[in-house]
Amino acid sequence: MKMLSNNPLLLIKLLTLHSLLALSAAQDFDFFYFVQQWPGSYCDTKQGCCYPSTGKPSSDFGIHGLWPNRNDGSYPSNCDSSNPFDASKISDLTSHMQSEWPTLACPSNNGLTFWGHEWDKHGTCSESVLNQHDYFATTLSFKNELNLLQALKSAGIQPNGQKYSLSSIKTAIKQASGYTPWIECNNDSSGNSQLYQIYLCVDSSASGFIECPWPGSYCDTKHGCCYPGTGKPASDFGIHGLWPNRNDGSYPSNCDSSNPFDSSKISDLLSQMKLDWPTLSCPSNEGLKFWGHEWDKHGTCSESVLDQHGYFSTALNLKTEINLLQALENAGIHPNGSEYSLSSIKDAVKEASGYTPWIECNSDSSGNSQLYQIYLCVDSSGSGFIECPVFPTGSCGTSIEFPMF
Ligand code: 5GP
Ligand code: 5GP
Repeated sequence: MKMLSNNPLLLIKLLTLHSLLALSAAQDFDFFYFVQQWPGSYCDTKQGCCYPSTGKPSSDFGIHGLWPNRNDGSYPSNCDSSNPFDASKISDLTSHMQSEWPTLACPSNNGLTFWGHEWDKHGTCSESVLNQHDYFATTLSFKNELNLLQALKSAGIQPNGQKYSLSSIKTAIKQASGYTPWIECNNDSSGNSQLYQIYLCVDSSASGFIECPWPGSYCDTKHGCCYPGTGKPASDFGIHGLWPNRNDGSYPSNCDSSNPFDSSKISDLLSQMKLDWPTLSCPSNEGLKFWGHEWDKHGTCSESVLDQHGYFSTALNLKTEINLLQALENAGIHPNGSEYSLSSIKDAVKEASGYTPWIECNSDSSGNSQLYQIYLCVDSSGSGFIECPVFPTGSCGTSIEFPMF
C-alpha cells in the first residue's frame, strides 16, 4: 500500500483496471431481446389464461419482456437478489404498464407478479445499464417506437384466424422496422401452430433496435448449438467433413479402430482447423471431438489414400480452393434471412467452381427450410473436385432461407 501511494500513476492504472473488470462482470450480455406476445395465442392453448383484474387487454401485441442475452444464445438470469422488484419505483408508469404490458397468467391479478418476475429474472442482469424505473420505461418506449400490429395489417396480415406464410410475417416487420424479427409459434388447444411471440433485438446499451446476431443454420434449430471455446466462428461456411462414398449412394464407415484419431498428428494444422473447421455441438469444446469423430467414422475408410495428417490438410486445402460464401455473394445471395431459389444457389456455386453442388436444407426452430450444407465431390485420390456421380434425394424446397450468422 505504501508503495502504491508513493506511485500515483500505478495506483490509477490499477483502479482503472479494477473498475473495467467490475464493469465487465456486471454486464454479462451482448444484446437484448425485446419480446412481444399475441394475447390470443397465449390464451387459446391447453393452459388457458386469465385476464388482468383491470379487464380484457386490447386486441394488440403486449410486452413480454426485455431480456439481456449473449451472442452464443445463452443468457444470464436472476442476477441480483439484493435489488428485488419494487412497485413504488414505477408508480408513474402503472397505467401505461397496464395497457402495454398486461399479464395473462392465472389467477387474475393486477400485473405486479409478471412485472416483478421480469425484473427479478431479466432486469437485474442489466442493472448496470438500466435501473428499475428505466428498465420498464425504456421497454415501454420500444413498444411505442414500432407498432407491430400496424406493420402486419399494412401487409394484409390480420388477426382473423387465417394462415399466413412465415416469410410474409417477417417481411412485413422488416419493412416497417428495418429489422428482421424472430418469430416464435405455439400450439392452440387443437395442436395448430400459431403466431405467438415476436422478438426484435436491441443493442447492449438499450438505445435502439439492431439486427439480431442470428445463430446460423446449425444453431437455429431445435437442438441449438454451442460456440467453440475459442469463440464465435466467423460468418462463413465451416468444413463438416470429407466423406468417402460409393457410386450407389452407400458409404463405408468406422473402418479402422486400430488407427484412432490422434491430435498430435495434426498439431501443425490446429490453428487452421479452429478457423475453418469449427465445431458447433454442445457442450462447448475446442473441436477435437468433432475432428476425432470425422476421422474415426470417415477418415479411417480412406486411409489407403490419405493418412491422418493428409486427410485433414487435404480438406483444409479444398476449402481454400473454393470460397463458397464469396461465390454466393457474387450472385447476390447473402446470409441475411432472405429466401432464395434453390436453383440460384446451385448456379452460383457452379459458376464459381465449375461443379454442380448438392444442397442440403434443415429446419429452423419454427420449421422453416433453410440452407444448411453444401456438398461437392472430390475424386477418389483426393486430388481435386469432380462432377458428382450421384446426388442424394433433395431436402430443400424450391425457395429456401439463408439465415444470418
Ligand atoms: P419468462 O420467464 O419467460 O421471462 O416469463 C414467463 C413467466 O411469466 C411465466 O412464469 C409466466 O407464468 C409469467 N407470466 C405472467 N403473465 C404472463 C403473460 O402474460 N405472458 C407470459 N408469456 N408469461 C406470463
Ligand atoms: P457426421 O456423423 O455426419 O459425419 O457428423 C456429425 C456428428 O458430428 C454429430 O454426432 C455431431 O454431434 C458432431 N458434431 C460436432 N460438431 C459439429 C458441427 O459443428 N456440425 C455438425 N454438423 N456436427 C457436429
